[in-house]
Amino acid sequence: MVAKKDIDWGNLGFSYHVTDKRYVSMYQDGKWDDGALISDDKIVMSEDAGVLQYSQSVFEGLKAYETEDGHIVCFRPDLNAQRMYDSALRLEMPPFPVDRFVEAVKETVRANEAWVPPYGTGATLYIRPYMFGISPVIGVKPADDYMFRIFTTPVGPYFKGGAKPIVVRVSDFDRAAPRGTGHIKAGLNYAMSLHAIVDAHKEGFAENIYLDPATRTKLEETGGANILLVDQDNTLVIPASDSILPSITRRSIHYVAENYLGMKVVEREVLLSEVEKGEFKECGLCGTAAVISPIGKINDHGKEIEFSNGMEKMGPVMQKLYDTLTGIQMGRIEAPEGWIVRID
Ligand SMILES: *Cc1c(COP(=O)(O)O)cnc(C)c1O
Repeated sequence: MVAKKDIDWGNLGFSYHVTDKRYVSMYQDGKWDDGALISDDKIVMSEDAGVLQYSQSVFEGLKAYETEDGHIVCFRPDLNAQRMYDSALRLEMPPFPVDRFVEAVKETVRANEAWVPPYGTGATLYIRPYMFGISPVIGVKPADDYMFRIFTTPVGPYFKGGAKPIVVRVSDFDRAAPRGTGHIKAGLNYAMSLHAIVDAHKEGFAENIYLDPATRTKLEETGGANILLVDQDNTLVIPASDSILPSITRRSIHYVAENYLGMKVVEREVLLSEVEKGEFKECGLCGTAAVISPIGKINDHGKEIEFSNGMEKMGPVMQKLYDTLTGIQMGRIEAPEGWIVRID
C-alpha cells in the first residue's frame, strides 16, 4: 500500500486536480502504438488539429474507489470500453481496442493509487478516458492521427449529507437530433448543451429535461444523466429512444431491479403527458457521478409536476435501487459476475 495523499477527502468537490500519471497512446500510420504512462499533463498539438476544427472527440467517465475490504476496484469498465469503441466508430475515429482500454484504466489507476480516496469518505477517483483527432485537418474529413489518453482526478462525495431532490425544467432546446449523435458520448453533445444548462441555472433549475426533438412529446434525458420513473404499480419505467446515451448506471439499475429486487422493469417511450397526468410516483436521474439523484419537481413552462417523494428525500423505490447498487459497488452485496474489476 502506498501512502495516501494528504487531502480532506470528504470536502473535495467535483473539480480537476492534476494527479501523478496519465496514460497516452497515439494512432499513427494506421495503428495504435504500445501506449505508456507519462507525467506531463500538457498536450502539444497543431493549431489545425482535427479536434480543434471539427470537434472530433469522444470520452468516457468512470470511477475507481476502495471497497469495504480495502481493495481498489472499478465498476464495469468493459462497458465504458465498448461504449467508447462505438462512439469512435460513429465519428470515423479508429476505435481503441476494448481489452487495451480496460488494461490502460487499471495501469492508470495503479499509478495514481495514492489519489484513490479511502473507503467510507464518499470520495472517489474519477477516471476520464478520451480520444481526439490530433493531425491537421482543413478540408472536412476525419483526421489521420489520434491521441487516446486517460487521466484521473479525485472527486468528493456527490451528495454531502444525503441526496436532496432537485427541481428540473423541461427544456426548449434539443439535445440530440433523430439519427444524430445522442447515443454516443461525444464532447459535441455537451458543447451544445452548455447554453441550456447555464440558462437553467440562472432560472433556478438544477437540470434540463430534453424531449425527443422530432415530436417534443416524449422524455429523453438530461444533459448528462438518464431518467428513471416508478409508476403507481411500482414498475420501474425507463424512457427508450435511439438518441438517449446508453448509461451504464441505468443498465445496471435495470438488472438490479429485476434480479435483486424482483421488480418489473419496462423500457418504453414515455410521454410527457403521462408524467403530467400523475402516472408516476417517483422520478430520478442516473449516471456514474451521483448513481441516482431524486427529482422532486419537473417544471414544464410554469406548470409543476410533483412526485410523491416530495422535496426532502429520495422516494422508497429509488432509495432501494440506490442502496442495492451502491452496496454492490462497495462490496457489501455480492456482485454479478464481472461487474467489479479489481485493480490491486
Ligand atoms: C455519460 C452520460 C450519462 C450517464 O452514463 P453512465 O454510464 O451511467 O455514467 C447519461 N447521459 C449522457 C448524455 C451522458 O453523456
